[in-house]
Amino acid sequence: MTKYIFVTGGVTSSLGKGIISASLAKLLQERNYKVTIQKFDPYINVDPGTLNPYEHGECYVTDDGAETDLDLGHYERFLNTPTSQDNNVTTGRIYQTVINKEREGQYLGKTVQVIPHITDEIKRRMMLLAEKRDFDIVITEIGGTVGDIESLPYLEAVRQLKRELGNQNCINIHLTLIPYLSAAKELKTKPTQHSVKELLQSGVQPDILVCRTEQPLTKEIKQKVSSFCNVDYKSVIEAIDAQTIYDVPILMLKEKLDIRVLKKLKLRTSQTPDLTAWKEFLGRLKSPTHEVNIGLVGKYNELPDAYKSIYESFVHSGAHNECKVNVFPIHSEILEVGEIDRKLANLDGVLVAPGFGERGIQGKIEAIKFVREKGIPFLGICLGMQCAVVEYARNVLKLKKASSTEVNPKTSYPVIDLMPDQKEITTKGGTMRLGAYKCRLEKGSIASRSYGRVEISERHRHRYEFNNAYLDHFTKEGMKFTGINPDTNLAEIVEISNHPYFVGVQFHPELKSTVERPHPIFVSFVNAALKYKLSDEKTKA
Ligand code: GLN
Repeated sequence: MTKYIFVTGGVTSSLGKGIISASLAKLLQERNYKVTIQKFDPYINVDPGTLNPYEHGECYVTDDGAETDLDLGHYERFLNTPTSQDNNVTTGRIYQTVINKEREGQYLGKTVQVIPHITDEIKRRMMLLAEKRDFDIVITEIGGTVGDIESLPYLEAVRQLKRELGNQNCINIHLTLIPYLSAAKELKTKPTQHSVKELLQSGVQPDILVCRTEQPLTKEIKQKVSSFCNVDYKSVIEAIDAQTIYDVPILMLKEKLDIRVLKKLKLRTSQTPDLTAWKEFLGRLKSPTHEVNIGLVGKYNELPDAYKSIYESFVHSGAHNECKVNVFPIHSEILEVGEIDRKLANLDGVLVAPGFGERGIQGKIEAIKFVREKGIPFLGICLGMQCAVVEYARNVLKLKKASSTEVNPKTSYPVIDLMPDQKEITTKGGTMRLGAYKCRLEKGSIASRSYGRVEISERHRHRYEFNNAYLDHFTKEGMKFTGINPDTNLAEIVEISNHPYFVGVQFHPELKSTVERPHPIFVSFVNAALKYKLSDEKTKA
């Protein structure tokens, strides 16, 4: 029988429920349990695909083409197993299903209500993953903070499931904050007590409390939390601030979070988790022998979460190369007002980010022209690749007015154009070219050397594409199309000759980089940046 763990959060948002869930899952996975994580988000959007990155950070895309919450990225990066549409559910999706059923007459004239209809649908979704596949443990992270009006139906569903399945099959881990008041030089437990009270009002008694803190929790503090919150002493877990999110599984292992969970769920605790590979990764991450500076040219730089997977991919590929990667966010709009050499000085590589719309495009194009001409390693992702094509058309093919029709629908040279099957689509949300598609690589290209094979599959999220009407012209002028979709002939990767590393990819490699499998394109890009730095320094010497 599948066991269920519900992770809720109290006191404030951003306590890191996603990281705690992913770390716990990692420990259970390394004890040979079949485990998965899902995220329930209380907002009304059907999925986060229509959200501006400033609102909710990056939209993470799964193999099966779901536009999901960025926490699913953490789950995949930690567990090294893919998630799917079923791993992310929102209030919008729950209501949509219930309302559709009501319109079909499936409720047989009944009044459709939050309880039981919405909560039943929430419960059905909570158990769906285990119905479709064989899991020992399903961890469900409930988004938002206990006390939010919109979280109530989820807590009610958890209460019902705990009663229906029994406490040994269904537990709640509540994540809270124990703030340190520097004036009083004291850790304070009151916010945690209040947040547990709030949870109790919904009928849910937490089984384990994970307490975020800046300072180690004393025995007295743990005892106080234990007695006021009705949680046994051993189940008050300290989650002290970590140097990196990748330390958290090790910290949770030391705090025995996995053992507490397994004991409560009446599962074996005999085997110890094998974290050899994880610790090796941490060792490489923490004692790099080299360092490179990479510029991340994008327009959502004010919010690093907008490029979450890109930052994490640099962590994985940096560790793989034993190289610290310093990522410098560069706002594409500031590149539009000149002094590009000063702004891109001291960089060993430039990544031009994905994005939508016209704002900041010219800055991205200027950055690409600069790195192409100077031989600085370049990686363009999605919109970044499309900008590389436009830059090449304008400055090498001399088609000065070339553009993407996303930016200029009337351009005389639409080198990037809407994909034919996108032309009729008017609705937003889940209508882009989404998810995994195959790609065949050209032997000997940077791409195929990076992957070490010629057949790959990568995830997509876009409406525009390289316009194959210009293929011959580009090829003649030295741009190489080294990755092609074998079924549709869409161009997936561009490279150029006589440049140490110039790669543009239409897909999103950052969505498939994990701790144990750093993405080959990021690995080769960081490696190229390192080579560039060393050679550059050699010339200077
Ligand atoms: N806006 C571009 C398109 O839709 C690129 C999308 C992206 O970078 N994810 O094709």
